[in-house]
Amino acid sequence: MSYIVVGNSAAGLFAVEEIRRHDTRSEVIVLTAEQEPSYSRCLTTYFLAGDIPASQLYLRDTDFAERLNLKMIYGVKVNGIDPTHQSLRSTDGREWHYSKLLLAMGSSARKPTISGGNLPEVFTLRTMEDALAINKVLEQGAQKAVVIGGGLVSLKSAYALKKRGLDVTVVVSSGQILSQMLDLKEASMMQEYLSVNGLKFLLQTEAMSITGKSHVQGVLISSQTELAADLVIIGKGVRPNIEELSEFGFNIGQGLKVDSSLATNLPNIYAAGDIAETWDLVREQFTLNATWPNATTQGRIAGANMCGREEVYAGSLGLNSVDFFGLSAMSVGITKLQDNKESGDWEQDENLKMMEDMPIYRKLIWERNNSSLTPSLPSSLPIYTPKGFVLIGDTSQGGVLTALIKAGRPLTLAQRQSAMGKRGTLAVDMIR
Ligand SMILES: Cc1cc2nc3c(=O)[nH]c(=O)nc-3n(C[C@H](O)[C@H](O)[C@H](O)COP(=O)(O)OP(=O)(O)OC[C@H]3O[C@@H](n4cnc5c(N)ncnc54)[C@H](O)[C@@H]3O)c2cc1C
Repeated sequence: MSYIVVGNSAAGLFAVEEIRRHDTRSEVIVLTAEQEPSYSRCLTTYFLAGDIPASQLYLRDTDFAERLNLKMIYGVKVNGIDPTHQSLRSTDGREWHYSKLLLAMGSSARKPTISGGNLPEVFTLRTMEDALAINKVLEQGAQKAVVIGGGLVSLKSAYALKKRGLDVTVVVSSGQILSQMLDLKEASMMQEYLSVNGLKFLLQTEAMSITGKSHVQGVLISSQTELAADLVIIGKGVRPNIEELSEFGFNIGQGLKVDSSLATNLPNIYAAGDIAETWDLVREQFTLNATWPNATTQGRIAGANMCGREEVYAGSLGLNSVDFFGLSAMSVGITKLQDNKESGDWEQDENLKMMEDMPIYRKLIWERNNSSLTPSLPSSLPIYTPKGFVLIGDTSQGGVLTALIKAGRPLTLAQRQSAMGKRGTLAVDMIR
């Protein structure tokens, strides 16, 4: 038996650990495009902020590969698969044979074509290499930065640059920040708090070009307005690394489609993490849910199933969690009423209070149905299935509420009201 895992990030790392739990003897080869042992992408902005040294990004000890008897091959880019002969090719012309293969190749940052985008101080932030290069520009004394995009990675980057003392402007083409995670009102709360802490925002503004001859000088946002900049970070989302897999017979949608064992449609080939299109537990459709916890769980389950176990992956959940200048926010599942499916009635509960300048906010989204669907409850009572939530300011109940969403059990009105309360134990009772 020979296992090959492509990618050594969240999904790949958890997969090889699981494989070794079930099979200590067979060959396990890990092929990875980057030159780094497994590290946390999520922490790269904390490194840029100066909160942690680069050494703390690594997820395992230096003897990890040796201990698990893994054959690690760094800096190799897989670009061909022959499912009939169970072999892989890489751009350097090498070939490998597998009995079981996991594709855990993740995503790449989207980099829209923009004039001046090739200047040396223009970056996306996806890899350790990106983070080290950005850090170098910071060490050279950059003072002004423009961040293009208002999503999670953009704001985490902007926050890090601000913490390093830069003057930071975030340019967002839509009318709000964090549009994947928050509604307009919630986004305004976050934006206001970030502005008080020194970040500048320009909404409904397009970055037209990046100016400068051999170095970045600024970002043009209209024919007359240029924002001065020594550093530009573009955060326009990610795309799964499926481009090079299109011609080998995979069932491809937004990502590589997998079943509940995380197997692809091709024999002995599994996929996990950002590259995989999985069943979303609350949206009840196949989608990409590109988060670290989804990737690790999928990696572990794919690893087990590659070893002949029969573990079922119930599905993924959209989940985001951030902390800026002491204000934390978390969102899970369906977070906006207008996102919902047509079936059932949809309702939300919200609760906002201010603690000095910090908002403490909780919103839960419910699908309302009739209890005749749930035989254990008296008929004709309305029942409410929790489908998602947003917490701002106090995320301490996030774990319990996530479990409530995952459990997917319909609740009575009284239970729904308890879930909005502060007592987590009530929610724990409901999960059982
Ligand atoms: C700055 C930043 C902050 C983030 N913060 C959060 C957060 O707070 N919470 C959260 O849940 N998620 C966060 N994420 C997202 C999270 O990092 C990803 O969801 C997660 O890394 C996905 O893991 P993965 O193993 O699927 O793929 P990736 O982490 O993308 O890793 C892909 C692996 O495959 C390798 N690879 C790619 N192509 C090839 C190829 N052709 N051949 C060989 N090897 C290849 C790469 O080298 C890498 O080892 C953040 C991401 C970034 C960039």
